[in-house]
Amino acid sequence: MANLNRIPQRYYSQLVLDDFSYEDQKKLCESEVTIIGCGGLGSPLAVYLVASGVGKINLIDFDVVEERNLHRQVFYQESDIGRKKVDALKEYLINLDREVEVNIFSAKSSEIDFKKIDSNLFFDCTDNLKTSFELNEEMVNLNKPICFASASELNGQIIIFKNSKKEHCCYSCLFKESGDLETNHCVSLGVLGPAVAVIASMQSLIGMRFICGKFEETETLIRVDSSKFEIKKNKVFPDKSCRLKRL
Ligand SMILES: [Zn+2]
Repeated sequence: MANLNRIPQRYYSQLVLDDFSYEDQKKLCESEVTIIGCGGLGSPLAVYLVASGVGKINLIDFDVVEERNLHRQVFYQESDIGRKKVDALKEYLINLDREVEVNIFSAKSSEIDFKKIDSNLFFDCTDNLKTSFELNEEMVNLNKPICFASASELNGQIIIFKNSKKEHCCYSCLFKESGDLETNHCVSLGVLGPAVAVIASMQSLIGMRFICGKFEETETLIRVDSSKFEIKKNKVFPDKSCRLKRL
Protein backbone atom coordinates (compact mmCIF):
# COMPACT_ATOMS: atom_id res chain seq x y z
CA MET A 1 0.00 0.00 0.00
CA ALA A 2 1.48 3.30 -1.05
CA ASN A 3 2.33 5.77 1.70
CA LEU A 4 0.54 8.90 0.51
CA ASN A 5 1.60 11.00 3.52
CA ARG A 6 5.04 11.61 2.08
CA ILE A 7 3.82 12.82 -1.31
CA PRO A 8 4.00 16.60 -0.69
CA GLN A 9 7.61 16.51 0.50
CA ARG A 10 9.15 13.77 -1.60
CA TYR A 11 7.60 14.68 -4.93
CA TYR A 12 7.46 18.43 -4.45
CA SER A 13 9.31 19.27 -7.67
CA GLN A 14 6.90 17.18 -9.73
CA LEU A 15 3.83 18.60 -8.01
CA VAL A 16 4.72 22.23 -8.78
CA LEU A 17 4.41 21.48 -12.50
CA ASP A 18 1.26 22.84 -14.14
CA ASP A 19 0.75 19.56 -15.93
CA PHE A 20 1.24 17.25 -12.93
CA SER A 21 -1.29 17.10 -10.09
CA TYR A 22 -1.51 15.45 -6.70
CA GLU A 23 -3.95 12.97 -8.30
CA ASP A 24 -1.31 12.11 -10.93
CA GLN A 25 1.24 11.49 -8.20
CA LYS A 26 -1.24 9.34 -6.30
CA LYS A 27 -1.84 7.25 -9.44
CA LEU A 28 1.91 6.74 -9.81
CA CYS A 29 2.35 5.79 -6.16
CA GLU A 30 -0.47 3.25 -6.44
CA SER A 31 0.70 1.84 -9.76
CA GLU A 32 2.44 -1.40 -10.61
CA VAL A 33 4.75 -1.90 -13.58
CA THR A 34 6.59 -4.90 -14.99
CA ILE A 35 9.93 -4.60 -16.72
CA ILE A 36 11.11 -7.48 -18.88
CA GLY A 37 14.87 -7.20 -19.38
CA CYS A 38 17.02 -5.30 -16.87
CA GLY A 39 19.85 -4.17 -19.14
CA GLY A 40 20.65 -0.81 -20.73
CA LEU A 41 16.99 0.16 -21.11
CA GLY A 42 15.31 -1.73 -18.28
CA SER A 43 17.67 -0.79 -15.46
CA PRO A 44 17.56 3.03 -15.86
CA LEU A 45 13.84 2.76 -16.63
CA ALA A 46 13.27 0.99 -13.30
CA VAL A 47 15.31 3.61 -11.44
CA TYR A 48 13.44 6.55 -13.01
CA LEU A 49 10.02 5.02 -12.43
CA VAL A 50 10.70 4.19 -8.80
CA ALA A 51 12.31 7.58 -8.16
CA SER A 52 9.22 9.21 -9.67
CA GLY A 53 6.96 7.34 -7.27
CA VAL A 54 5.84 4.08 -8.89
CA GLY A 55 4.89 1.94 -5.90
CA LYS A 56 5.32 -1.60 -7.12
CA ILE A 57 7.71 -2.98 -9.72
CA ASN A 58 8.29 -6.47 -11.10
CA LEU A 59 11.68 -7.19 -12.65
CA ILE A 60 12.21 -10.10 -15.02
CA ASP A 61 15.73 -11.04 -16.19
CA PHE A 62 17.77 -14.24 -16.18
CA ASP A 63 21.16 -12.61 -16.85
CA VAL A 64 24.13 -11.67 -14.67
CA VAL A 65 26.06 -8.40 -14.72
CA GLU A 66 29.13 -8.51 -16.98
CA GLU A 67 31.99 -6.04 -17.25
CA ARG A 68 31.01 -5.14 -20.83
CA ASN A 69 27.55 -4.04 -19.59
CA LEU A 70 28.89 -1.27 -17.36
CA HIS A 71 29.37 1.41 -20.04
CA ARG A 72 25.60 1.63 -20.56
CA GLN A 73 23.99 -0.16 -17.61
CA VAL A 74 25.15 2.53 -15.27
CA PHE A 75 23.22 1.55 -12.18
CA TYR A 76 25.37 -1.59 -11.86
CA GLN A 77 28.77 -1.33 -10.22
CA GLU A 78 32.02 -3.24 -10.73
CA SER A 79 31.21 -5.02 -7.48
CA ASP A 80 27.99 -6.32 -9.10
CA ILE A 81 29.85 -8.27 -11.82
CA GLY A 82 28.70 -11.89 -11.66
CA ARG A 83 25.53 -11.06 -9.66
CA LYS A 84 22.08 -11.58 -11.07
CA LYS A 85 20.85 -8.31 -12.54
CA VAL A 86 17.50 -8.60 -10.75
CA ASP A 87 19.27 -8.95 -7.37
CA ALA A 88 21.60 -5.97 -7.95
CA LEU A 89 18.80 -3.79 -9.32
CA LYS A 90 16.41 -4.65 -6.50
CA GLU A 91 19.08 -3.64 -3.99
CA TYR A 92 19.60 -0.32 -5.79
CA LEU A 93 15.86 0.41 -5.90
CA ILE A 94 15.30 -0.36 -2.23
CA ASN A 95 18.21 1.90 -1.29
CA LEU A 96 16.56 4.59 -3.42
CA ASP A 97 13.11 4.14 -1.86
CA ARG A 98 12.70 1.86 1.13
CA GLU A 99 8.92 1.72 0.64
CA VAL A 100 8.87 0.49 -2.95
CA GLU A 101 7.71 -3.10 -3.46
CA VAL A 102 10.09 -4.94 -5.77
CA ASN A 103 9.35 -8.46 -7.01
CA ILE A 104 12.07 -10.23 -8.91
CA PHE A 105 11.89 -13.11 -11.37
CA SER A 106 15.25 -14.58 -12.32
CA ALA A 107 13.79 -16.27 -15.38
CA LYS A 108 13.19 -15.96 -19.09
CA SER A 109 9.97 -14.16 -20.00
CA SER A 110 8.71 -17.38 -21.62
CA GLU A 111 8.73 -18.97 -18.15
CA ILE A 112 6.50 -16.28 -16.62
CA ASP A 113 2.73 -16.64 -16.23
CA PHE A 114 1.65 -13.12 -17.19
CA LYS A 115 -1.97 -13.92 -16.34
CA LYS A 116 -0.94 -13.63 -12.71
CA ILE A 117 0.68 -10.21 -13.09
CA ASP A 118 -1.66 -7.22 -13.05
CA SER A 119 0.45 -4.25 -14.06
CA ASN A 120 -0.67 -0.84 -15.27
CA LEU A 121 1.98 -1.17 -17.95
CA PHE A 122 4.48 -3.78 -19.12
CA PHE A 123 7.81 -2.80 -20.67
CA ASP A 124 9.70 -4.94 -23.16
CA CYS A 125 13.35 -3.97 -22.71
CA THR A 126 14.84 -7.21 -23.98
CA ASP A 127 16.03 -5.90 -27.36
CA ASN A 128 15.41 -9.39 -28.73
CA LEU A 129 12.93 -9.70 -31.59
CA LYS A 130 11.88 -13.26 -30.79
CA THR A 131 11.02 -12.26 -27.22
CA SER A 132 9.22 -9.12 -28.42
CA PHE A 133 6.97 -11.14 -30.74
CA GLU A 134 6.27 -13.64 -27.96
CA LEU A 135 5.45 -10.88 -25.47
CA ASN A 136 3.27 -9.18 -28.06
CA GLU A 137 1.19 -12.31 -28.54
CA GLU A 138 0.91 -12.78 -24.78
CA MET A 139 -0.24 -9.19 -24.17
CA VAL A 140 -2.66 -9.16 -27.13
CA ASN A 141 -4.30 -12.31 -25.77
CA LEU A 142 -4.46 -10.92 -22.23
CA ASN A 143 -5.51 -7.38 -23.35
CA LYS A 144 -2.65 -5.85 -21.39
CA PRO A 145 -0.78 -2.67 -22.43
CA ILE A 146 2.89 -2.96 -23.32
CA CYS A 147 5.62 -0.51 -24.22
CA PHE A 148 8.29 -1.83 -26.61
CA ALA A 149 11.66 -0.12 -26.93
CA SER A 150 15.01 -0.86 -28.48
CA ALA A 151 18.30 0.93 -29.03
CA SER A 152 21.39 0.29 -31.10
CA GLU A 153 24.21 2.43 -32.50
CA LEU A 154 22.80 5.96 -32.01
CA ASN A 155 19.19 5.08 -32.77
CA GLY A 156 16.23 3.95 -30.78
CA GLN A 157 12.50 3.49 -30.96
CA ILE A 158 9.57 3.32 -28.56
CA ILE A 159 5.91 2.40 -28.94
CA ILE A 160 2.99 1.60 -26.63
CA PHE A 161 0.16 -0.69 -27.65
CA LYS A 162 -2.92 -0.51 -25.45
CA ASN A 163 -4.18 -3.94 -26.54
CA SER A 164 -7.70 -2.99 -25.52
CA LYS A 165 -10.48 -5.24 -26.72
CA LYS A 166 -12.10 -2.67 -29.00
CA GLU A 167 -9.51 -2.41 -31.70
CA HIS A 168 -6.54 -4.45 -32.81
CA CYS A 169 -3.19 -2.87 -33.54
CA CYS A 170 -0.11 -4.65 -32.27
CA TYR A 171 3.64 -5.14 -32.62
CA SER A 172 3.03 -7.79 -35.30
CA CYS A 173 1.02 -5.27 -37.33
CA LEU A 174 4.15 -3.09 -37.35
CA PHE A 175 7.00 -5.57 -37.75
CA LYS A 176 7.09 -8.84 -39.66
CA GLU A 177 8.61 -11.96 -38.20
CA SER A 178 11.46 -12.49 -40.63
CA GLY A 179 15.25 -12.69 -40.53
CA ASP A 180 17.30 -13.64 -37.49
CA LEU A 181 14.96 -13.04 -34.58
CA GLU A 182 17.59 -13.96 -31.99
CA THR A 183 19.91 -11.08 -32.89
CA ASN A 184 20.56 -8.62 -30.09
CA HIS A 185 21.30 -5.39 -31.94
CA CYS A 186 22.95 -3.73 -28.96
CA VAL A 187 25.59 -6.46 -29.03
CA SER A 188 25.92 -6.99 -32.80
CA LEU A 189 25.82 -3.34 -33.93
CA GLY A 190 27.17 -1.66 -30.81
CA VAL A 191 25.68 1.26 -28.92
CA LEU A 192 26.74 4.35 -27.01
CA GLY A 193 25.67 4.46 -23.38
CA PRO A 194 24.01 7.90 -23.45
CA ALA A 195 22.08 6.96 -26.63
CA VAL A 196 20.47 4.07 -24.73
CA ALA A 197 19.84 6.39 -21.79
CA VAL A 198 17.89 8.78 -24.04
CA ILE A 199 15.52 5.96 -24.99
CA ALA A 200 15.21 4.67 -21.41
CA SER A 201 14.50 8.18 -20.17
CA MET A 202 11.84 8.75 -22.83
CA GLN A 203 10.34 5.37 -22.03
CA SER A 204 10.00 6.32 -18.37
CA LEU A 205 8.44 9.67 -19.26
CA ILE A 206 5.98 8.08 -21.66
CA GLY A 207 5.23 5.34 -19.12
CA MET A 208 4.52 7.88 -16.35
CA ARG A 209 2.17 9.81 -18.61
CA PHE A 210 0.43 6.61 -19.70
CA ILE A 211 -0.14 5.56 -16.08
CA CYS A 212 -1.56 9.02 -15.34
CA GLY A 213 -3.88 8.73 -18.36
CA LYS A 214 -2.10 11.56 -20.15
CA PHE A 215 -0.36 9.81 -23.01
CA GLU A 216 -2.40 10.21 -26.18
CA GLU A 217 0.07 8.82 -28.67
CA THR A 218 -0.31 5.10 -28.19
CA GLU A 219 0.11 3.01 -31.34
CA THR A 220 2.61 5.63 -32.53
CA LEU A 221 6.20 4.68 -33.32
CA ILE A 222 8.60 7.24 -31.88
CA ARG A 223 12.02 7.02 -33.50
CA VAL A 224 15.02 8.83 -32.11
CA ASP A 225 18.21 9.48 -34.05
CA SER A 226 20.74 10.71 -31.50
CA SER A 227 23.38 11.35 -34.17
CA LYS A 228 21.23 14.22 -35.50
CA PHE A 229 19.15 14.82 -32.35
CA GLU A 230 16.00 14.10 -34.36
CA ILE A 231 12.72 12.58 -33.22
CA LYS A 232 10.14 11.30 -35.71
CA LYS A 233 6.68 9.95 -34.99
CA ASN A 234 4.54 7.70 -37.15
CA LYS A 235 1.05 6.49 -36.34
CA VAL A 236 0.72 2.73 -36.72
CA PHE A 237 -2.46 1.25 -38.14
CA PRO A 238 -3.91 -2.25 -37.82
CA ASP A 239 -2.66 -4.63 -40.48
CA LYS A 240 -5.40 -6.81 -41.95
CA SER A 241 -2.86 -9.58 -42.56
CA CYS A 242 -1.62 -9.61 -38.92
CA ARG A 243 -1.78 -13.21 -37.78
CA LEU A 244 -2.94 -12.23 -34.28
CA LYS A 245 -6.01 -10.39 -35.54
CA ARG A 246 -7.96 -13.62 -35.79
CA LEU A 247 -7.43 -14.53 -32.16
ZN1 LIG B 1 -1.48 -7.10 -35.02
